[in-house]
Amino acid sequence: MTKKITIMNLVAAGALLASPAFTYAESNQNKLNNIESELNGKQQELQGKKQEKTQIEQDVQSLQKKLDELNASITNNEKDLNATQEEIRKTEEEIQKKKDHIAYLQAQIEKRQEVIKQRLQTVQEQPRTNLITDVLVNAENIAELLENLYSVNLILNSDNDILKEQARDQKAVEEEKAAVEAKETDLKKYEETLNKKKQELEANKQEEQKVLQQLNAKLSQTDSEIESAEEAKSILEAQRQAVQQNIAAEERAKAEAAKQAEAEKAAAASKPSGNTSSGSSNSMSTPPAANTSGFIKPANGHFSSGFGPREGRMHYGQDIAASGNVPIVAAASGVVIRSYLSSSYGNVVFISHLINGKTYTTVYAHMQNRLVSEGQTVQQGQQLGLMGNTGQSEGQHLHFEIHIGEWNAAKSNAVDPLPYIQ
Ligand SMILES: [Zn+2]
Repeated sequence: MTKKITIMNLVAAGALLASPAFTYAESNQNKLNNIESELNGKQQELQGKKQEKTQIEQDVQSLQKKLDELNASITNNEKDLNATQEEIRKTEEEIQKKKDHIAYLQAQIEKRQEVIKQRLQTVQEQPRTNLITDVLVNAENIAELLENLYSVNLILNSDNDILKEQARDQKAVEEEKAAVEAKETDLKKYEETLNKKKQELEANKQEEQKVLQQLNAKLSQTDSEIESAEEAKSILEAQRQAVQQNIAAEERAKAEAAKQAEAEKAAAASKPSGNTSSGSSNSMSTPPAANTSGFIKPANGHFSSGFGPREGRMHYGQDIAASGNVPIVAAASGVVIRSYLSSSYGNVVFISHLINGKTYTTVYAHMQNRLVSEGQTVQQGQQLGLMGNTGQSEGQHLHFEIHIGEWNAAKSNAVDPLPYIQ
């Protein structure tokens, strides 16, 4: 008796395990756990990326500060260089003036020495009064008269002081000229130093601008990584919600079934016997299928790029291309879990389907517009939008993905949609 009960209990337990409702619930819970752990991973990834971004932003800031300082140094150096060059120009002018002055003095000295020589000869031959008369009579104009009188004065005084003074002046001017030339040499040396510094500063600037460019490239790379991680996170959250809804629906169905079984048991107890059919309630979950897969082609057009490796990357869907206004429709009935504008997918809609007790997720990308919103239930064939060219797309087409089960960031559940929709 006790043994029999044990066996019966075992049979009952076995039946419970084998019941599709039970295994389904368990797999949904697994799915939920998987999504949770994937979400945690994404959250950590996001945190890491955000920290990385902050670090890069700080680096950019300090580098920018350095560059500003460098630019200020370059400006100062340039000013200094301009001033020095201006001073060199002025000094060269001064040197030229000194040279001209020296030449003038030299000419004067030579001229006077000649005049004195001639007059001295005349003086030795003539008395003083005659000399003056001679000067007055022979002068052809006032200037010559004055010049002659000056020479006479020199001669009469028998004095070469002015000549000596002139020689002294010349010497002084030559010394000044040498000083100015020395100044010019110094200035040119300084100019050379400034030019060298200028080159160094420019080289530094170029180097730092290169680093800044690299940092900015890294920053935008991190930004797009953050964006895609956030996108993945949102999809996973939507996916989690869908599974949670499935679990809730299942609980309700289970409760419903238990209630019905109770009612049938009560009915059977009141009616003695007879084979009554209860088939209608058992086969209720089978949706009307367009073909054996349960999916239809989501847009008219030709298959322009298939599932598989493409340009060194994996292409996780089928591309369907056509021109004009081409409606995009739901490949099967389901619930819209995401409807948004993605930088890569463009206008994109994700639909979660439950077909013969199995979950599928479909993705419709690069649409011109979106006519459905998140949480909305859609029927197979219902329009989601128009074929477009939004996001990372070259030419109008629909990028269509089917995932068996849930979408994940690795897209490991993606399958070739072709056999499902051909
Ligand atoms: Zn594609």
